[in-house]
Amino acid sequence: MTIGILGGGQLGYMLALAGYPLNFHFRFLDPSPQAPVGRIAPRVTAEYTDFEALEKFASGLALVTYEFENVPVEAVRFLQKRLPVYPSPQALETAQDRRSEKDLFQKLGIPTTEFVAVDSSDLEQAVRKLGLPAILKTCRFGYDGKGQWLLRANEDVARIAQEIPATPLILEKFVHFSRELSILAVRARDGKTAFYPLVENRHREGILRLSLAPAPRLTAALQQEAEQAALRVLEALDYVGVLAIELFECDGRLLANEMAPRVHNSGHWSIEGAITSQFENHLRAVAGLPLGDTRTVGCSAMLNLIGELPDSSELLAVPDAHLHIYGKALRPGRKVGHVTLRADCAEQLATRLEQLPQFFHRPEFCLTPNLVQSAK
Ligand code: AMP
Repeated sequence: MTIGILGGGQLGYMLALAGYPLNFHFRFLDPSPQAPVGRIAPRVTAEYTDFEALEKFASGLALVTYEFENVPVEAVRFLQKRLPVYPSPQALETAQDRRSEKDLFQKLGIPTTEFVAVDSSDLEQAVRKLGLPAILKTCRFGYDGKGQWLLRANEDVARIAQEIPATPLILEKFVHFSRELSILAVRARDGKTAFYPLVENRHREGILRLSLAPAPRLTAALQQEAEQAALRVLEALDYVGVLAIELFECDGRLLANEMAPRVHNSGHWSIEGAITSQFENHLRAVAGLPLGDTRTVGCSAMLNLIGELPDSSELLAVPDAHLHIYGKALRPGRKVGHVTLRADCAEQLATRLEQLPQFFHRPEFCLTPNLVQSAK
């Protein structure tokens, strides 16, 4: 079976690596001739809206999925007329727009951050309604903190009103959360579902730096709350594949921030840290196979490598440290690889985090404060 994947970045790369043992073949479509999957799979280099290229790409494929959520919906609809596409274009369309995503959460009774839809002309009115501090976000194409403006005081409002693009926006109340979490859920073609444990995520400059899985101090009640929210979304969208929902923990309750209709950076730990990785489970789901066990194997920490790589031999001297390099050119701010550190228990994970080479003991990796405490 050859699976077509729209997008050829590191997520696609890791999907293919997970799929080869299951005897899947892959074909990718990505506009960039430097897409990381070029190392391991055939690829069509074309714009997503190049319908002739899409036709060629689709020929002989069993199904299509994606690893990039900003694929134009018309490309996915074009493909859906020819072969199965999972998750559905409807799921993609909902997740591409913060407004429709939040509307869906609200319709399903899932608590979200308070927000109002705005355009550049009524920013002041929206601020009056919501209060400050608040975060202004573009509805579409925001990622890694891009397309966002923090409004602390009234002076910021007038200044930012001048510089924001003429595009749909939402203003969100600033949430004083205790931490950021995410849930990864997967739904098979026959409707069966499975959930990974909640993960704690730490960001810096809008980019994910560290994930701890399972999230420290995770209670059964919190996990259940997250699973119920994810289940409602999966069912409402008749979803097939892996879905990630990013959440804020606030006074012991969860607020949904956004979702991604694909495998997710906060699930990379599952390659070594779960019985079945998010990548394998996504492929199992879309291919109509039974889902794999989502239970963890001990505790894991995943550290993103942004713009630079550590010395491999120093890192791999740490027990149960695993290095993933995506084969991208090293550029500041770019995710070029990740490390997963696995351990049998939280105490051992804390010890191993301390044993990481000097390269990792910098604020960028968010290992402090309370390195030991947070792993427990
Ligand atoms: P997003 O693109 O929505 O995931 O936002 C990027 C990061 O900005 C999040 O991971 C949070 O750290 C922060 N953030 C986003 N929305 C809010 C909010 N309403 N209140 C506080 N922090 C936020």
